[in-house]
Amino acid sequence: MKLENKKVLVTGASRGIGKTITEKFIAGGAEIWGLDIKEPEDLQERLENAGGKLHWINADLSKTTEVEAVIEKALKESGGFDILVNNAGITRDNLSFRMSIEDWQKVLDINLTAAFLIARVVGREMIRKRSGSIINMASVVGIHGNGGQANYAASKAGLIAVTKSLAYEMASRGVRVNAIAPGFIESDMTAAVPEDARKKMIDSIPMKRTGTQEDVAEAALFFASESSSYITGQVLTVDGGMFI
Ligand code: NAD
Repeated sequence: MKLENKKVLVTGASRGIGKTITEKFIAGGAEIWGLDIKEPEDLQERLENAGGKLHWINADLSKTTEVEAVIEKALKESGGFDILVNNAGITRDNLSFRMSIEDWQKVLDINLTAAFLIARVVGREMIRKRSGSIINMASVVGIHGNGGQANYAASKAGLIAVTKSLAYEMASRGVRVNAIAPGFIESDMTAAVPEDARKKMIDSIPMKRTGTQEDVAEAALFFASESSSYITGQVLTVDGGMFI
């Protein structure tokens, strides 16, 4: 198994891509600390199915002054993480001229600031052990921009810049830092997209389909495992060819 005995922190693990990554990594032999603002309804069942390989942390990553303490505590309990998946993220879409400063700030706080703080706390410990892999969930929107998503695009572009900067800082200490840039993936986040916009979107994707959470989880597994041992500072786009 690719992740035998690896300890992993996954943020935004309640549902969607984070949940799928959690399940895939447990199947790969990892022990997971799942963090989310919302406890999933099926938590008890998931804990039982994982047979001791899943632990749960309730935390609100928008409370940026509290994030470091939450992660320090998780570090102590786990004994240190081998892999971090900074996956939690939100959208608060609006045209730039109508966007409230609160919606701007909230998206930046969760998607960028919290991810940076978590990477610093977890990364410090990885450096001590001279090994680790950090995976940041960005977006194609962070590379190309998107109308109505200035806050989200800025947060994901920032996350890509953090990924590359941390990769430079940590490479000689055995820690790799990479990002995944998903395109249009089926999840609760994208469920609200109206049917006509969805059709248009699919038409614009060369592979003529939306992505699955499994597609993204496979990319995360690649960056988490030794299969990518000579790769750092990279952004892997998972978008069916939407941007080639
Ligand atoms: P989702 O909304 O289904 O899941 C996000 C998770 O993050 C949820 O479980 C949510 O509770 C958690 N979360 C939100 N705010 C939080 C907070 N303050 N503290 C802690 N946890 C919080 O979304 P998803 O589609 O699974 O997206 C996962 C990641 O992938 C996000 O970073 C998203 O930006 C990124 N992404 C998704 C798509 C897509 O098409 N779905 C495309 C590109 C990038």
